[in-house]
Amino acid sequence: MERAKRFEGKVAIVTASTQGIGLAIAERLGLEGASVVISSRKQQNVDAATQILSAKGIQVLGLVCHVSRPLHRKNLIDITLQKYGKIDVIVSNAAANPSVDAILQTQETVLDKLWEINVKATVLLLKDAVPHLQKGSSVVIISSIAGYNPPPSLAMYGVTKTALLGLTKALAAEMAPATRVNCVAPGFVPTNFASFITTNDAVRKELEDKTLLGRLGTTEDMAAATAFLASDDAAYITGETIVVAGGTPSRL
Ligand code: NAP
Repeated sequence: MERAKRFEGKVAIVTASTQGIGLAIAERLGLEGASVVISSRKQQNVDAATQILSAKGIQVLGLVCHVSRPLHRKNLIDITLQKYGKIDVIVSNAAANPSVDAILQTQETVLDKLWEINVKATVLLLKDAVPHLQKGSSVVIISSIAGYNPPPSLAMYGVTKTALLGLTKALAAEMAPATRVNCVAPGFVPTNFASFITTNDAVRKELEDKTLLGRLGTTEDMAAATAFLASDDAAYITGETIVVAGGTPSRL
């Protein structure tokens, strides 16, 4: 398909982008002309994803970055600047969901990990990046439909995703007018992260039935919404969250 080229000449960092939603976002921004910087924890995943994107003609730089490691975050920003000299788009996509326990049964170390990766790492990455963000730049934070009504098996994870809705509003105010900050709240998408869907047909059917459109989301659905918010098509939108969940109940 012939794509618009909304990101020609732009530099985009997408965290946790060697598979799933992050990789699809990097691909979409890249196909629309961005130079993309992809990253995740494991070098072999970075290498494989870099190859996939390069083979599609995308200008891509692949780095190892575990988002809760300060040196990894610093490296991500520093090497991006060395190679491309600026940053136009940051998509903060990393998350962990280490437990299915009820909130009051969750160990403190697990609570810390959820906070560290799902919320704090976004703040700290943006803190490092902000001096280098271009005028007209854009941040997109990836939350979740679970942020609106945290389901029992995803309860504390859901609460961290609720925090990102507030973080989006607060950062939009702090970073205006130079940088817009928006959020995408995906519905359920069959990826490794959501193995409860891919490995259990009954759960999958139940989640499909909750949508109005009769299907789960795709990584490309999430990439399309993210690219819109990151692009100048959304030049007058900041502090907002788009729910991309096929009509699954979220809010009024
Ligand atoms: P995925 O397909 O499992 O991909 C996860 C990616 O994150 C991989 O590239 C992984 O690579 C990387 N990663 C994991 N931990 C990381 C860390 N600490 N630092 C840096 N990279 C890390 O997951 P996904 O479903 O695309 O999820 C992406 C985002 O969408 C998450 O924020 C998730 O909460 C959100 N979301 C997903 C769904 C869904 O149904 N799938 C629904 C709502 C929201 P390495 O293993 O090499 O690190």
